[in-house]
Amino acid sequence: MRHEHADTVIVGAGLSGLYTALLLDPDKSVILLVKTALKESNSRLAQGGIAAEMKHEKALLEAHIEDTLTAGHHLNDMDAVKCLVNEAHENIELLLKEGVQFDKDASGGFLTTLEGGHSTSRVLHSGGDATGKDIMNALQKEVKQRKNIRIFEQTMAIDLAVDNGEVQGLSALDESNNTVLFSASNIIVATGGIGSVYAASTNPPIATGDGIAMAKRAGTTIEKMAFVQFHPTAFFDPENPEGRRFLISEAVRGEGAVLKNMKGEAFMEKYHENADLAPRDIVSQGIHREMYDTWSDHVFLDTRHLDSHYLKQRFPTIQKELETRGYGLGKDLIPIAPVEHFNIGGIKTNLHGETDINHLFALGECASTGVHGANRLASNSLLECVVFGRRIANTINSMVHTETQAPVFNYGQAASYHYGPVRKKIRSIMEEHVGIVRRKHGLEKANKELKGLYDTLIRYPNHTKRYYETLNMLDVSLSIVRDALKRPKSIGCHFRID
Ligand SMILES: Cc1cc2nc3c(=O)[nH]c(=O)nc-3n(C[C@H](O)[C@H](O)[C@H](O)COP(=O)(O)OP(=O)(O)OC[C@H]3O[C@@H](n4cnc5c(N)ncnc54)[C@H](O)[C@@H]3O)c2cc1C
Repeated sequence: MRHEHADTVIVGAGLSGLYTALLLDPDKSVILLVKTALKESNSRLAQGGIAAEMKHEKALLEAHIEDTLTAGHHLNDMDAVKCLVNEAHENIELLLKEGVQFDKDASGGFLTTLEGGHSTSRVLHSGGDATGKDIMNALQKEVKQRKNIRIFEQTMAIDLAVDNGEVQGLSALDESNNTVLFSASNIIVATGGIGSVYAASTNPPIATGDGIAMAKRAGTTIEKMAFVQFHPTAFFDPENPEGRRFLISEAVRGEGAVLKNMKGEAFMEKYHENADLAPRDIVSQGIHREMYDTWSDHVFLDTRHLDSHYLKQRFPTIQKELETRGYGLGKDLIPIAPVEHFNIGGIKTNLHGETDINHLFALGECASTGVHGANRLASNSLLECVVFGRRIANTINSMVHTETQAPVFNYGQAASYHYGPVRKKIRSIMEEHVGIVRRKHGLEKANKELKGLYDTLIRYPNHTKRYYETLNMLDVSLSIVRDALKRPKSIGCHFRID
């Protein structure tokens, strides 16, 4: 078996992975593993922006902390929230140094926007609504120039090797399905979201929760998985209601767009004093209620009263995508419905990104740092990637690197099964019983059916990427269901109606 070594192996090259790689000491070797192509990630799709108080005034920072706690229903870890908010400014400065350009006004000041749950306009953006793409392009360019960083694309991490509570390395499958062993003094898991376990999601299909399942198999603590955030405004296409759904950023409501039901009535004032700019959990649950009451599978986003010229300039990506679907900003009622968007829970970490396995770190959407509580405040996740990425880099840079051996794994044969029907089944169970609203009976049914599928799959191991992805999807789904069952009370994104 091929063996590769680096001081640090980072699994995932979204914003978390790339940013951390750039902050690790340049005299230490880094390997970045990427499941498919470098350009495929949740990070690249981010539209709205990154929340950061650039004025760094006490009252403004306190307001950002308060908004994060309010959106999170105070289930947040206060120390983690303070790190997130207070270290935002210095991390934005670092992003600027790496070549990221945020939108500015004519006098050179940063342009900011409002999003749901934010009491002040503090969301920085780039290219109007191309924040993720612009940040990722800049960081990818930098990473490719660094001599100490090697990138392995089409290489999927499978299992972690842990000895005596210490991580030693991992196994992976390359583009030809050959096993590659990686040893490292430190491993950072930064594998992103879990969207593919639901029938419809804003995430790309690679979001199968691999890192969470892999870390769970290795024995780390996985927590708060019940808190799956549904984005209120994904474009609804009756011909393609499933799969990856195009997102219409919350920032469009920040610019004055209004949600309307099938009867043409604005309804969000019924659910929250901030109406269309209420936190995401409340907006998604309000839309769900309206769809239920009007026997419909969608509602509308109304921008017809707004300046269409301005909207097209402000949201060029959204406008372009809508045009291909026959709609326009400032012109049409746009059909939307909530879909799975963001995974709040995950691999439990401390304030330095450390898990409960030595030298194993977790970061970004697969990690549970505690910043989001029961519901994420919009645009706090890109911020989480950079703030905790820097904390991890600082921790690793201060460590003495140790020698590690090639890990040992025993794998069997590989058969090219597709697992399509199992995946379809997982998605339909999750969508029906573990969506925006949940009942005890439905969760128990989901638990039983998913457990049955998991037990069958584990009995017939198959050393292929499709097999491990499907196993990981089942593992993650079961973690969500079981955490949801343990929480009889509604809070944030976890809404029980029994
Ligand atoms: C449409 C959309 C819009 C969004 N808008 C915003 C926004 O405006 N503001 C905001 O703050 N947040 C936004 N988010 C959320 C935010 O983009 C993500 O939470 C964040 O980018 C996650 O970054 P990450 O580095 O953790 O994961 P990702 O960016 O998803 O990267 C994951 C990486 O892990 C790799 N990977 C996965 N599994 C494996 C494996 N087994 N082996 C090897 N590699 C693996 C992938 O190939 C990829 O490189 C948005 C998300 C979406 C989907």
